[in-house]
Amino acid sequence: MHKEIKRKSARLPEETLWIHYLLHIGFTKSLLSEAKIRKYRREYGRRSINRASDLIKDSQLAFQIHGWPSLPSNKEPGKSVSSLNTLTEFSFLASAMYYLYKERVYTSLSIAEVVSAYELYTNIRSIHENKNKQISPSTAFYVARELELDIALIPYCNNCNIRYYSSADQHIKNACPFCREAGEGDFDDQKNWTF
Ligand SMILES: [Zn+2]
Repeated sequence: MHKEIKRKSARLPEETLWIHYLLHIGFTKSLLSEAKIRKYRREYGRRSINRASDLIKDSQLAFQIHGWPSLPSNKEPGKSVSSLNTLTEFSFLASAMYYLYKERVYTSLSIAEVVSAYELYTNIRSIHENKNKQISPSTAFYVARELELDIALIPYCNNCNIRYYSSADQHIKNACPFCREAGEGDFDDQKNWTF
């Protein structure tokens, strides 16, 4: 009994609400368990997230009701970029991140900041009749980690006056998805030197 009380008090009620909110948006349980989403504190862990998620297991989550994407939760987003359509989609997300946080995208965005950027990205893409598959919130979180690890960049294209996504792991040329030329701050120069 005593042990039970101690275990339950490990997470604050507002933290449980925050986890519920993130689950409703469509973040996966695996991300919330494993990723470092709390400042100065360790990962929640599977048991903690399962306990929070059990409390709402009988209700439909917002992402299920509205058909928002939840999967895939892609830990290496760059590797999934193999077409111009995907590159364009990731560029919408990356531009939203850069618009909100500028160079800070390369430090460490919090999950709350990722959520704000994700919201902006969702709004931008819904203006046009976008037929591409929308990126999931969990993948968006891992894009932020790619930026932090210098695996991905958000270069600027002078021809199109836009920012776009560029990952060291992507399967197509690192260049603007619209004019196909390498923009300012892209990988291309470094790549030419390395290989
Ligand atoms: Zn361009």
